[in-house]
Amino acid sequence: MESIISEKVQVGISACMYGCEVRYNKKGWDMLTYFGREREAFIWHPMCPECMSGLGVPRDAIRITGGNGFDVWNGKARVKTSRGEDITEKVKNGARICMETLKNAGVYVYVFMEGSPSCGVYRTTLKNKRIGKPPGVFGALLLNEGFFLIPAADMQSPVRRWDWRRRLHAFVWLKNMELDSTVKLYDMWHIIKFLCQEIDNEQAKTIGREIAGIKGFDEEFAQDIKNRILMILRRPSSLERIKHMLWKNYSFYKKKAGVEVEGIMEPTGLRNMTHIAKELMDMEVRTYKEGTFFGSAPIIYRRV
Ligand code: SF4
Repeated sequence: MESIISEKVQVGISACMYGCEVRYNKKGWDMLTYFGREREAFIWHPMCPECMSGLGVPRDAIRITGGNGFDVWNGKARVKTSRGEDITEKVKNGARICMETLKNAGVYVYVFMEGSPSCGVYRTTLKNKRIGKPPGVFGALLLNEGFFLIPAADMQSPVRRWDWRRRLHAFVWLKNMELDSTVKLYDMWHIIKFLCQEIDNEQAKTIGREIAGIKGFDEEFAQDIKNRILMILRRPSSLERIKHMLWKNYSFYKKKAGVEVEGIMEPTGLRNMTHIAKELMDMEVRTYKEGTFFGSAPIIYRRV
């Protein structure tokens, strides 16, 4: 089974994180500068739900009163400007337009701006202070539609960036796969299981047991397995788990290939994030070139 993606992955992104100065106060940041040349490996779809609501730039800051984005869609909360004007319907409309645009373009990945009453998704912290009341109005739609979600702040950390990129590629690879035979199901699991074990070992063990116990092909069962794996892949790993899996993979590689790779350190070895990201990339490139398997990043993007 092919474990390479040759199409650029399409990614939606809050426009203010793409460098567009569309925030209420005319600000915007280009978070993709942290990518360097790697930004070319994706097709970006900048969206600004508040601009699409017809609110313009600059505009009054907005907030949700009486709940979060889900409550707005349920009619239990309202969206108001800092001057008290009720703009609920406008904001819902802007969010709908953005979602429709993404869906029409076949996009199911989104980089969101934390804390926004529109684009915010998760509760995150900034300088030990909780920001926003997530999800926002558009964030609620992203969650309902099962998007692969990436906090924009993750762009700044080389290890977090590496983590979401390899999970994203695995996610897209599996999402586009038609699991129509037992052999395909076995092959898929063989490729993806190490990454799933790293993110959620308990769930991965259960899925592994269920796949091993298959008597005959069952389409519903295959779809259920696929959905559960996609759910696992949406969740970030941790630095500790990443370092342990890197070392495990490397030890296996060293034994098999009979060569050592300079710079790969044990999980307890002290080094900064940039160094860890370099170790991960080195292993990724090396295993790809040699045609061996790197379980931590099983699916690779390469332009053919
Ligand atoms: S609506 Fe979203 S994209 Fe627009 S400024 Fe706010 S956070 Fe940024």
